[in-house]
Amino acid sequence: MAYLFFTIDMVFEAKWGTSVWGYECTAIVKHYSLLITHYSLLQHTYLYYLHSIYLFRTETTVRFSKELYDIVIIGAGPAGLNAGSYISRNFNGSVLLVDKTIPWEHPIACAEGVGRLGFEYSVEVKKSWIRQEIWSACFHAPGGGMITYRDKNGGFIINRASMQSDLAEQICADGVECVFNCRVKGVSLFETGVRRLTFEDGSSVSARVVIDASGPVCGIGKGEKIAWKPLDLEPAYFVWVEGIETSPDQIHIYAGQKIAPGGYAWVFPRDNGANIGVVIGKRYVGQCNIRHLLDNFIDNNFKSAKIVQRFAGAIPCSTKHGPVASAGLIKTGDAASTINPISRAGISEALLSGRLAGVAALEMLGAGCEKRIKSICKNYESAWNQKRGNRHIKLSKVKNSLLSVPDEDYNKGAALLSSTPLEELTMSRIFAVSLGRFPRLVWAMRHLM
Ligand SMILES: Cc1cc2nc3c(=O)[nH]c(=O)nc-3n(C[C@H](O)[C@H](O)[C@H](O)COP(=O)(O)OP(=O)(O)OC[C@H]3O[C@@H](n4cnc5c(N)ncnc54)[C@H](O)[C@@H]3O)c2cc1C
Repeated sequence: MAYLFFTIDMVFEAKWGTSVWGYECTAIVKHYSLLITHYSLLQHTYLYYLHSIYLFRTETTVRFSKELYDIVIIGAGPAGLNAGSYISRNFNGSVLLVDKTIPWEHPIACAEGVGRLGFEYSVEVKKSWIRQEIWSACFHAPGGGMITYRDKNGGFIINRASMQSDLAEQICADGVECVFNCRVKGVSLFETGVRRLTFEDGSSVSARVVIDASGPVCGIGKGEKIAWKPLDLEPAYFVWVEGIETSPDQIHIYAGQKIAPGGYAWVFPRDNGANIGVVIGKRYVGQCNIRHLLDNFIDNNFKSAKIVQRFAGAIPCSTKHGPVASAGLIKTGDAASTINPISRAGISEALLSGRLAGVAALEMLGAGCEKRIKSICKNYESAWNQKRGNRHIKLSKVKNSLLSVPDEDYNKGAALLSSTPLEELTMSRIFAVSLGRFPRLVWAMRHLM
């Protein structure tokens, strides 16, 4: 029952997904002829045109057009791109966005599931980003019991490569200088009103404000009084498979200590196949092999699955543990631990947090004095907390409490709720059934009250 809570939260507040596109992009680079097979001639010509006019610059020896920028954004993930999108629409100054890769030309290690409401609130969604719509979620208890939950808003499996390349194209067209294959090595302290960024190839630039949207493990801000690394980094492992039957508008979540200790396994439909993965709690790292867990899960449930590609990634599940902004430096997205700690979803969260970082960056440019900068940092954090952060803190406590709930409670909960007609399966109904019968579950949920 508790897993029902977190998966419902996961499913319909902002999560999920997968990515065929990434593999296709890799194929484009390695086997150019496949491009014609995968895309129309028109798209091909357009991509070639974009690269030929250096809209995206990808030199190995980086040449920047300026020595000093108003804003430098590190990372072309959802957070950095949405920060860039806000800034490019509201500011005419100099903005540079850098990324160590061209993210959409590589497989993106993400299941790509998002809740409709959270996603649409965070970004102007294009139809072409949606692989499929999701309307229900099946929750599988460790003992095999199953509950199906349908939601009136539903969610999507998106195509991140498509979303990110579109956003990048838009911000470049709006005047942001975009340089790819360019890894930031370090960001200096804030001195004389600027920070100095150094790059792996030895080059450097200065910025009045740096937005760190580099994901969970880059470590920018180390040595400053700022949260610079996630405390609860969980491993996730997933495969893209073909050869199994899945309903195209339904996702599946599996709970159980043997399946995914401290986490869960997922099956998300994706085009003609599925994306099957496992995330485990940090405390179980070293106690089990996540790849074996996933292989066993597939052997037990999807014998016919043919694995197309494997992915591994790390999910920063901790809520922030200190300030995430200081003079001339604003952290956003995974770099600011904005992931929902129970569902482990972070796409919509990163988009939203990126937009807020864009707002804060523009305010910081006009700040003038230290006091004003401090208040901008505080306002940025409060804005996030009001929108998502405060809830994430509660969910983080629930997550820790759930670790002590045994599998048998999930089995009993699933058995009780599975007899409830689908249309009557509401959150209040779930609470009503849980109360008194499963005190450990209810106790774990107390943080949500
Ligand atoms: C296996 C897995 C499955 C997931 N599934 C889902 C899901 O289904 N739904 C969901 O909502 N969330 C999911 N997530 C979480 C989601 O992927 C992240 O929350 C989201 O990508 C965060 O976006 P971001 O922009 O903050 O960071 P990222 O997407 O990580 O982008 C950071 C960018 O910064 C660049 N970069 C890093 N270091 C440097 C450097 N030194 N210099 C220059 N550039 C740099 C990187 O190349 C990257 O492009 C999943 C995560 C994992 C690991």
